[in-house]
Amino acid sequence: MYGLAVPGTPAPAADEARAERRLYIAPYRDEAPSDVEVVFDADGRVRYADEQPGDRCVDGWLWERWEGTQTGGQLWAGHHPVRQPDVIGHPPRCGGCAGEAHRDERGMLWLLHATTEAPSAYPCDITTVTPPMCLDCACWSLRSCRADGGFIAVRTRDVDVIGVRGTVYSPTQPPQVDTLVLFHDSRMHQVVANRLVIRLHDAVLDETTLSRLRADGHRGRALEGAAGPPR
Ligand SMILES: [Zn+2]
Repeated sequence: MYGLAVPGTPAPAADEARAERRLYIAPYRDEAPSDVEVVFDADGRVRYADEQPGDRCVDGWLWERWEGTQTGGQLWAGHHPVRQPDVIGHPPRCGGCAGEAHRDERGMLWLLHATTEAPSAYPCDITTVTPPMCLDCACWSLRSCRADGGFIAVRTRDVDVIGVRGTVYSPTQPPQVDTLVLFHDSRMHQVVANRLVIRLHDAVLDETTLSRLRADGHRGRALEGAAGPPR
């Protein structure tokens, strides 16, 4: 497996995140990318002009360097380039609280945007940067986060981390932001990564869990009698 360790991984914050009702992977308004100069080495590979040991993951790929503090409110639609890889890794954990994601016999639970990520038929493979969720965080996300077109819930028992999204640099072209680069692609040497990309194999639609999450969310209470790992 690639990319399963990232620079500066913070300590697991499941209890804190649950207590404050914050979204573990989301950036804060007081966090932002550092002002770094991206240059090329003699082999045409990207590096930072003032590169530091923590700028690369154990696989040697260059990651966005961010600074700031976890204050000022959260930008729920975004992904922090350390906390997102921290939970997408091995095995994936809940993007809301960094605790265990919910599993049943169909596999781990993912809550995805219906318009941008919904396939037309199931089971199918889905490529995403979204981590899985526990029931509690999924319920809260449905209630609190907006998604044009709504959400779908899917489950899978088989996932692979397949690459990164980030900015691809070229000596001759303008930088290409938010580009998907697979691990076997030579552009891994030209990308400054900011998120890991995961593939959900043979994902199935889970309408029963979604209905139940919506119902419990409307009632404004925690899920009762929910199957899954102890919380
Ligand atoms: Zn959670």
